[in-house]
Amino acid sequence: MPQTRRYIDHHCHGIVDADLTRPQLEALMAEAHLPAPDGCTQFDKPLGLLVRRYCAPVLGLDPFASPEDYVARRTELGGREASRRLMQGAGMTELLIDTGHRSDTILDVPQMAEITGCATQEVIRIEAVMEAAAKQAGSAEELVSLFAEMMEAFARDAVALKSIVAYRVTFDIDQTRPDAGAVVKAAGDWLAALEAGESRRLDNAVLIRHALFMALDICVERDFPLQLHTAVGDLDIDMPKCDPTVFVPFIKQAEAMKVPLTLLHCYPFVQQATWLAEVFQNVYFDVGFTLNFTGPQAIRTMEQAMEMGPFFKQLYSSDAFGLAELHYLGRIQFERMMDKVMGQWLADGDITLKEADRIIDMITHGNAARIYRLTE
Ligand SMILES: [Zn+2]
Repeated sequence: MPQTRRYIDHHCHGIVDADLTRPQLEALMAEAHLPAPDGCTQFDKPLGLLVRRYCAPVLGLDPFASPEDYVARRTELGGREASRRLMQGAGMTELLIDTGHRSDTILDVPQMAEITGCATQEVIRIEAVMEAAAKQAGSAEELVSLFAEMMEAFARDAVALKSIVAYRVTFDIDQTRPDAGAVVKAAGDWLAALEAGESRRLDNAVLIRHALFMALDICVERDFPLQLHTAVGDLDIDMPKCDPTVFVPFIKQAEAMKVPLTLLHCYPFVQQATWLAEVFQNVYFDVGFTLNFTGPQAIRTMEQAMEMGPFFKQLYSSDAFGLAELHYLGRIQFERMMDKVMGQWLADGDITLKEADRIIDMITHGNAARIYRLTE
């Protein structure tokens, strides 16, 4: 496929450009909250194979370099240069960056533009805004008004909002807009819980619902999407309650307001996500970092992504966090798996090369450019 194709990574995070020790590198290759057991390594899984097979040559090593050689070469080049090579290799055109997760440990939006040479845009995580507001608020009323002010201000320079409601309270919640009295009461309860050390982050379902509906209002005003973390993640995910079909009542309200919802990564509910994309006018989806974590076996996820979802609803994302390797592999995996699917359709006579190219254009940039209002 041509290296010149426009690619919009509609959901990713900043990287660490410092030199990394092997434990630090392995921690960023994992969703696990603890390191691999003694004597085991994160290189011994599908993603680890991909790093050795595809990233090693970008750093000037042979494919399948040992983990020891890989880490040594990365250190010899320096974290900054290794990251630069991988990011340039990824060949993205635009990055839409979620800055709400561990933002003190990774490069910020301008720094990402500098190391990648890409146009970069920010996506605002609404739970992080509420947490920032809580740090400054002296009372429940003040938290509510400060949150509204900060949301307006942050949204002004962003291209979308994002929620991790699935992480914090799951999709299996009351999905109606809470009234003002309930919101102030919840704000008071949560501030007290923070004070008492019983809560360390936004985990109050009423406040999250308030944030979600305010987000929809802002999305209407600014004519941009709301991204929803869906399913796969770390230990905090209560998986059965993060099936996106559980969130249909909210999706319906967003559809009535004409707000595009983008379901992020979706695994293992890719089929559910594609069904939602089929049924609801406003639902979009990606399979994100699933393609990296399923490694050589990623074809199954790509086949599911292509089996029902309208072509005008799928988006490209790496969901890379921390490692430039994950940005690079996101592109490699998407192209490899899409080539396999399209190759089969071509062989079966179901499509022409020209049609395949048009569909890939929609997924790599056309759909994202349309819903995020990105001009070339
Ligand atoms: Zn993410």
